[in-house]
Amino acid sequence: MMDHSFFEKLQAIVGKENVDSTKAGRLVYSYDATPGFQSMPDAVAAPRNTREVSEVVKLCQEYKIPIVPRGSGTNLCAGTTPSEGGLVLLFKHMNKILDLDKENLTITVQPGVITQDLIKHVEKEGLFYPPDPSSMKISTIGGNINENSGGLRGLKYGVTRDYVLGLEAVMANGDIIRTGGKLAKDVAGYDLTRLFVGSEGTLSIITEATLKLIPIPQSKKTMLALYQDMEAAARSVSSIISKQIIPATLEFLDQPTLKVVEDFAKIGLPTDVKAVLLIEQDGPQELVERDIKLMMDICLQEDAVSVEMAKTESEAEALRTARRSALSALARLKPTTILEDATVPRSQISNMVKAINEIGEKYKLNICTFGHAGDGNLHPTVPTDARNHEEMERVEMAFAEIFAKAIELGGTITGEHGVGMMKAPYLEWKLGKEGVAVMKAIKAALDPSNILNPGKVFAKESRKRVVVSR
Ligand SMILES: Cc1cc2nc3c(=O)[nH]c(=O)nc-3n(C[C@H](O)[C@H](O)[C@H](O)COP(=O)(O)OP(=O)(O)OC[C@H]3O[C@@H](n4cnc5c(N)ncnc54)[C@H](O)[C@@H]3O)c2cc1C
Repeated sequence: MMDHSFFEKLQAIVGKENVDSTKAGRLVYSYDATPGFQSMPDAVAAPRNTREVSEVVKLCQEYKIPIVPRGSGTNLCAGTTPSEGGLVLLFKHMNKILDLDKENLTITVQPGVITQDLIKHVEKEGLFYPPDPSSMKISTIGGNINENSGGLRGLKYGVTRDYVLGLEAVMANGDIIRTGGKLAKDVAGYDLTRLFVGSEGTLSIITEATLKLIPIPQSKKTMLALYQDMEAAARSVSSIISKQIIPATLEFLDQPTLKVVEDFAKIGLPTDVKAVLLIEQDGPQELVERDIKLMMDICLQEDAVSVEMAKTESEAEALRTARRSALSALARLKPTTILEDATVPRSQISNMVKAINEIGEKYKLNICTFGHAGDGNLHPTVPTDARNHEEMERVEMAFAEIFAKAIELGGTITGEHGVGMMKAPYLEWKLGKEGVAVMKAIKAALDPSNILNPGKVFAKESRKRVVVSR
């Protein structure tokens, strides 16, 4: 329990000004970007360095206080909702870029660095950090690592996991460990770096990360393929990949999404078509020209009504920004926006799109779909109202069916947003009892008192959403 002595000790570690236990201060951190989940923490603290993080963890261990590490709270799986109260840990002071190493092509940063700041920082030096979640203007590297976030460039360049070379982590007993390093190769024991990536703050607290950089591509071309048939767009995705072309970006937006995005971004997106694919290739100019021509032909063969090239970089950037704003644009439609990220093997994208449409019709829901089609990662999204319990029931049932369909097609319940509380009830669908037991054994070994982000990843049992209107 957080009593007076706990607060005194906490303030002594991080400074009085870095502890907030006021109701207003706690309320701000009682929810994240996930609708329908809210729970008050008992306090919020912002340590200034790794040593302070370690001391705070030791203190919480002594008092058995849950710790919820939190970046910018943009996760979409209720991953930072303090479901069991406790202490929310912020990294607003631990937001420095520590070292850009051009000889090893690495950058070492603190967890609170904003993703886009890192990307811009390295691009000034002619280097490239590809993971670009649509939330990159506000998300933190600590959050990206713990969700193993992907982005528009995931198809060709991979996701956050592919760029994490080493970590400094504070364990549940306060020990500070280092994994990996500025190394191209390292097989010294178990791969703890990979274990911590995507662990959603449940296994350790990341206090520093060394990330891989690559040379910036020499050139880039962007095009938009327009379709009057959603499945034709999905077929184009499978066809491009089966012809062994790996574009940098292969994104999908359906008509309802296009309409709201255009209304939001006002860049002249076509709203009279049923779907578009945003396609980009980067690299040496010759390869870019060749691939873009091949992909244009494939799209037309698969019944695209037309293919439009971005004429300037600012036109291309406007298209990317519009795609990145899809969720924010959809969120303007209704009070509650439920977005999921069912993911299937790329070859199954057309079947998944078809299934989502059928499920939408079955449950009489307006499902808007967009996403990283080239990764098989779709974001079926339902603008709804949490106060409409009858509709929320249908949303719940529709998403359960979408997850079941994704698994049936060889896919998964989440491609990049993580499990958190939101998808915990479905984890067993993907892993089976035995798979969940292995994960629980790892959690129990590293955090036997269950103080690190408790209530996430592993469900108590029910798969019911806790609905709170906002
Ligand atoms: C508009 C919008 C667009 C999005 N687009 C994408 C997208 O394209 N791709 C994608 O993958 N995701 C996307 N997301 C989801 C979200 O932005 C990502 O999951 C992001 O990585 C979360 O970063 P954050 O800093 O907000 O972390 P938070 O939400 O604060 O935390 C995420 C998880 O990381 C843990 N955590 C945070 N910092 C630490 C730390 N230092 N140590 C240990 N654990 C920690 C938290 O406990 C939590 O489990 C989007 C979200 C929104 C709102």
